[in-house]
Amino acid sequence: MDFWRVPLDIDAIQVPRGIVTIFEDRCKGCGYCITFCPRHVLNLASRFNVKGYHPPEVIRADDCVNCRFCEIICPEFAIYSTEASPDSPASVPCSCDTIKET
Ligand code: SF4
Ligand code: SF4
Repeated sequence: MDFWRVPLDIDAIQVPRGIVTIFEDRCKGCGYCITFCPRHVLNLASRFNVKGYHPPEVIRADDCVNCRFCEIICPEFAIYSTEASPDSPASVPCSCDTIKET
């Protein structure tokens, strides 16, 4: 997207990065987190959880901006995001975590 002018402080702005954590077995496969993620970070996994639903999986980890919208919208409290350290480079291998509750 081209802007017609560039903000004066553009170099000072750091876009946060998020680390997404998913509690797979709480998920009911509604897909809200996938549909409404503004950065298209998530996708429906092909595997099933213990309830027989397809949980979300992270497919574009480096694009997460830690807006936490997935966390807010999830009716099952099955997903959340935390801010990654500003030192960690964008090319760090996916640090996203999928948690299986016992
Ligand atoms: S925190 Fe925001 S950008 Fe990251 S996965 Fe959730 S909705 Fe998408
Ligand atoms: S919003 Fe929550 S319950 Fe719905 S698919 Fe995402 S993680 Fe699963």
